[in-house]
Amino acid sequence: MNLKEEIRAKAMENGFQLFGVSYIKKVEDVEFPSGRGLVKPSEVMHDVKSLIVMGMVIWDEGMNAAISTPGTGDFSGGEAEYYNLYYETVETRAWRLAQWLWDEKSVKAVPTHSVHVKVAAYLAGLGFIGHNTQVITPQYGPRVRWVALLTTLELTPDQPFSRNLCAEQPLCQKESLCVKACPYGAIIPGPSQGVPPGEKVIYDKCVVSHELEKDINDKWEKHIRRITERGFMECTICNLACPYGKIVEADIVPRKRGLA
Ligand code: SF4
Ligand code: SF4
Repeated sequence: MNLKEEIRAKAMENGFQLFGVSYIKKVEDVEFPSGRGLVKPSEVMHDVKSLIVMGMVIWDEGMNAAISTPGTGDFSGGEAEYYNLYYETVETRAWRLAQWLWDEKSVKAVPTHSVHVKVAAYLAGLGFIGHNTQVITPQYGPRVRWVALLTTLELTPDQPFSRNLCAEQPLCQKESLCVKACPYGAIIPGPSQGVPPGEKVIYDKCVVSHELEKDINDKWEKHIRRITERGFMECTICNLACPYGKIVEADIVPRKRGLA
C-alpha cells in the first residue's frame, strides 16, 4: 500500500468517511470572503506541500451543536467566543491522524478548518459546490462536515469533482429545493459557480451571521434551535432540503440508533 492509501485507511479508522487530496496551489490561489475567519493554507503552515481533506457524516442533528458568547457577530475575531461540536470533533480526529503521521512516518501535519475546506473538498474530487454553497457529495449529499490536514508531505492530488449534481437532480429542475427551503430567502437562485466569493448566500439574511449578536432579534431567534441560553443547533434547513444523501436519514441514522 502506498503512503497516500495508508493515510486514507488511517483516516477511515479515525472516524472519517470521505478522504481526498487537493491541489494545494489551487487552494492557495482561491479567493474567499473576508470576515469569516478564512486564511490561505500557507498562513497556517508556511512549508505546506499537500492538503488532505476529510469529511465526517453528520448522522444526528446534535452533532451541529454550537455555543457562543454575546459578541460582535464577526467570526474572524473580536470579543466573541464561539465553539461548535463538529469543528471540535473533526479537528480532534484529524489531530489523532497528525500524531500517527509524526510518530510512525516522521511527517509534520496540522489540522485546520480555517482554510477554504469546501473548495478543497471539490478540488479533491469529493463533491460539487451546490446552489446552497455547500459541498454536495454523491453519497451523503451535504450532510458532511469537513476538516483540512496540512502536511509537508508531497502527495499526489486527486482530480476535481467533474459532475454537476444540481443540474443532474430531477427534483431541483423547476426550483432548487435548498433555495426554496431557506426561511429568510438568503440564497440567490442558480449555480454557485461564477458568483463572487461570499455573495451567493446573502450573509446578512442568513441566521448564521446573527448567532454571535448581543441582542438577537426575534426574527432570527425563531429559527435558532436553542439548547441552552447561548447554546443552539446550527441552522441546517438548506442542507437537509437537498435530495442527495437521503441515505443518511434512511439507513445510517436508524443503524446508529440501533433501530435497523
Ligand atoms: S443556513 Fe439557514 S438561514 Fe442560512 S441560508 Fe441556509 S437555510 Fe437559510
Ligand atoms: S437542493 Fe438541489 S439545487 Fe440545492 S444543492 Fe441540493 S441538488 Fe443542488
